[in-house]
Amino acid sequence: GRGKKKGKGTAHKVTFADIAGVPEAVAELAEIRDYLDDPSRYLDLGAAAPKGVLLVGPPGTGKTLLAKAVAGEANAAFFSLSGSDFVESLVGVGAARVRDLFAKARRMSPAIIFIDEFDAAGRKRGAGIGQGNDEREQTLNQLLVEMDGFSGDGGLVVMGATNRPDILDPALLRPGRFDRQITVDTPDVHGRSEILRLHGSKRPMGADANLDEIARLTPGFSGAELANVVNEAALLTVRAGEREITQKVLEESIDRVVSGPAKKHLLTE
Ligand code: ATP
Repeated sequence: GRGKKKGKGTAHKVTFADIAGVPEAVAELAEIRDYLDDPSRYLDLGAAAPKGVLLVGPPGTGKTLLAKAVAGEANAAFFSLSGSDFVESLVGVGAARVRDLFAKARRMSPAIIFIDEFDAAGRKRGAGIGQGNDEREQTLNQLLVEMDGFSGDGGLVVMGATNRPDILDPALLRPGRFDRQITVDTPDVHGRSEILRLHGSKRPMGADANLDEIARLTPGFSGAELANVVNEAALLTVRAGEREITQKVLEESIDRVVSGPAKKHLLTE
C-alpha cells in the first residue's frame, strides 16, 4: 500500500506490552525507542544515530508489530510501505513515492518508516541476465539517496523487514544505512507460552486450559500462528455455543492452523 501515517493520534497505540516471546529483539529495539525519544542524547555524546535497522526473521514472528511498538512507545509517527511497491509501479513512480514519503516523515519526526518485504526492494542490483528491473533499481537508488541525505539528528529511523539479508545489495548495508540487524526468531517453548498467554488473556479460558502444554505441542510455530490457534479456538467455542475455551478445543485448533486455511472449510462441517 501507500505510505500511511499511524501512531500519533490513532485509537489503539501498539506498545511493547503487545509483544511476547522475543525479549532480545525488544531489548535491542528499546535503544531505538530511547533515541527517538531524545535524539539529542546521542548527538551530545557523538554517538552515531541509528538511521537504518533490519528486522531479520521468518514470516509472522512479529516484525511489523515490533516496528509499530517502537513508534507507539516513542510517540513517533509510523509510515509503512512494501518492498513489492518498488517492483510493480511505473518507471519513476516508485522513486517519487519514496521521495515524498521521506519528506513527509521528516516533517512529522520523530518518525519510523517501515518497509515490509524489504528483500523484494533491495535485492542485489543487476542480478541475473534479463532480470534487471529499471523501476526497482531507480526506487532503490532513491532510497539510498534519502538514507544518505538525513543526518539522523532529526529522529527518523528506517526499518526494513526481511528473511533474506543475504540477498540484499551490499550498498544497503554500509555504515549510515541499514547497519544494524535485529534478529526476530520463532519463539522457543517459553516464548510460545508467553505469546499464547498474551493472546489468551483477552479471552475467557476454561479452568482446564493449559497453555504451557499447548506451547509444548507447537514447536516451530510463529507468533502469528500461535495467535491463530487462540483465535481459532475462540471461533470454535462460539460455534459450539460454549462460553469458555477448553483444552480440547485448543488442541483441535492446533491441527486447524497446521492444515491451513485452504483445507479449513473441508474440516468445518
Ligand atoms: P510478515 O513478515 O509475514 O509480515 P511479521 O513478522 O511482520 O510477519 P506480524 O505481522 O507483526 O509479523 O505478526 C502478525 C500477528 O501475529 C501480529 O499482529 C500478532 O497478533 C501476532 N504476533 C506475531 N508475533 C508476535 C509476538 N512476538 N507477540 C505477540 N503477538 C505476535
